[in-house]
Order: sequence, then structure tokens, then C-alpha cells
Amino acid sequence: MTAKLIDGKAFAATVREKVASHVTRLKEDHGITPGLAVVLVGEDPASQVYVRSKGKQTIEAGMNSYEHRMDADTTEADLLAVIDALNTDPAVHGILVQLPLPGHLNEDLIINSIAPEKDVDGFHISNVGLLGTGQKSMVPCTPLGCLMMLRDHHGSLSGMNAVVIGRSNIVGKPMAQLLLGDSCTVTIAHSRTKDLPGVVKQADIVVAAVGRPEMVPGDWIKEGATVIDVGINRIERDGKNKLVGDVDFESAAKVAGAITPVPGGVGPMTIACLLANTVTACCRANGLAEPEGLTA
Ligand code: NAP
Repeated sequence: MTAKLIDGKAFAATVREKVASHVTRLKEDHGITPGLAVVLVGEDPASQVYVRSKGKQTIEAGMNSYEHRMDADTTEADLLAVIDALNTDPAVHGILVQLPLPGHLNEDLIINSIAPEKDVDGFHISNVGLLGTGQKSMVPCTPLGCLMMLRDHHGSLSGMNAVVIGRSNIVGKPMAQLLLGDSCTVTIAHSRTKDLPGVVKQADIVVAAVGRPEMVPGDWIKEGATVIDVGINRIERDGKNKLVGDVDFESAAKVAGAITPVPGGVGPMTIACLLANTVTACCRANGLAEPEGLTA
């Protein structure tokens, strides 16, 4: 079997188009422009690239982008003051604090200081609780992107066996909640899981979010399963730098029914879902109908 390629790059483009057309409607019908504020503390090179990319795509979608760059030695009090101002600014519908933060700042405290309804990363404890109890919440962008691709590929996910490898708060746990919300039978695997190959072999859907290059080989995968590879690992091969996922694409693609590539799979969906969350937050803030298909 040769797997169908789930093209995250193309899918992300359709999500961005939906976002942009909803933004146009919000402007024309209601005179509202959604706004996303991104706060970057310090000069981590990877974070700078992400923040630039987020700002660019926000503007391309017709939204307002606000960037707050703060020094690496910013105090907690100064950062909290910036977040407080954004929380009360009616032009700002989404707030994202780029992680990781410098070590002297308490990440949980900072994230939980964001107004939950503007928490477009979905990391605030209130949003985690709302998602866990099946209530309307802001949904973390990466798992939301995975869910959208799975729904698009399968239609209904009801009754499918899903195995999520990884239990991080950012990907694994919310991914498992979303799959449970769509009535999958969900197993969360992690570094202490016994017989991981045997567990993965049961899965109709495998979501790998581990951070270990090409850890999941094709012979762990059930014939015809759908494989979503969240991993982004930089490796050196044949003297060249390369991006690979947590799944060994070559062997897995021979067994799976469908698979996301790395790069070009989950990655592009993450920022697209951030834009989607910003529009959703804007609609909720203004008591307007939410765009269909842009949240869980
Ligand atoms: P993380 O916080 O480091 O969590 C990794 C998880 O993998 C942990 O739960 C860990 O288990 C588990 N794990 C580690 N080694 C394992 C093993 N040998 N067998 C089974 N499970 C194992 O990572 P993360 O933030 O969730 O990210 C995971 C990957 O996704 C990374 O490559 C990251 O770069 C990528 N990512 C991509 C996007 C995107 O936009 N595409 C977004 C976020 C993350 P324990 O809990 O037991 O330690």
C-alpha cells in the first residue's frame, strides 16, 4: 500500500482563505478588524522567525498585527503590565506570548494572566478545563490543525482507535481531548509506555508528538492507518541539514493509508489555526456567529 499524502501546506492555504474571507465580512458588515498581539521576550532566533511569520500571515489575512518585543531581562512585573494592557484593549482579540520564555519568568503565571477569551494559543488553565469538559474553549493551534486534517480525510472519526504518542500540555494532551471529543477510543502513549510498537499497531489513527527523529517505523503501523506526524526534528544527513518528523516517512508511507509529510504537514497548519482562533475570538467578543469549520 502507498499512503495518500495529506498536504498540510495546501490545507493551510484553504484555512487562511476562509479566515481572510471572514475578516472581509467582519470589516464590511460590522466595521470590525480582528487584531492579534504577539509578545516576544528576548532574542531566541527560532522564536524571532516564528513571530515574524505570524505577523506577516496575520496582515496577509487582513487582520491587525501588534508586536511587542521586550528585552531578555524584562521583569515579570513589566511583562504582566503589557499583558494587562492587551487584555483590556478592545482592538486586540488574540494575545500570544511566544514560548519558551527566559528562565527567570514563570511561564504558567504569565500564560494564566492572559484573558482566557483572548488566549488564542489555548494554554490558559481555563481553556484547558473547558476543552477537558467538552465546553466551548480556545483550542491549542497544533492539535486543532491535526483534527481539521483528520476530519477532512475521514469525515467522521467516531469509533476509531487513536493512539497519541506524547503527553505534552501543548500537543499530546489536548490532541487526545479533541479525539475523544470526536468519539475516538483514545490511548495516550509516552516514554514509560510498555510495548509501544504493540500499542501503535492497534491504531486506526496515529498522532506522533515526541520530538525524536524518525522514531516510529513503518512496521509499527497498522495497514491502512492514518498517520499524523507532529514532530519537527533538525538532523544532519549526508552532510546536509534536514527536517524530519517523529515517523520514518519512507517505511510508514508503504503501510499507512494516509500520512502527513515533514515538512509540509502539520507545521503550516499551526499558524493557519492561530489566525482561525483570532477570528473565532473576535466573533465571540462581539457576539457574532463564528465562522464554520475553523474550530473544534
Ligand atoms: P515534549 O513536551 O518534549 O513532549 C514529548 C513527549 O514525547 C513526552 O510526553 C514524552 O514522554 C514523549 N516521549 C519521549 N520519548 C519517548 C519515547 N521514546 N517513547 C514514547 N514517548 C516518548 O514535546 P512537544 O512540545 O509535545 O513536541 C513534540 C514534537 O512536536 C517536537 O518535535 C516538536 O518540535 C513538535 N512540535 C511541532 C509543532 C508544529 O507546529 N508542527 C508544534 C509543537 C511541537 P514523557 O512525558 O514520559 O517524558
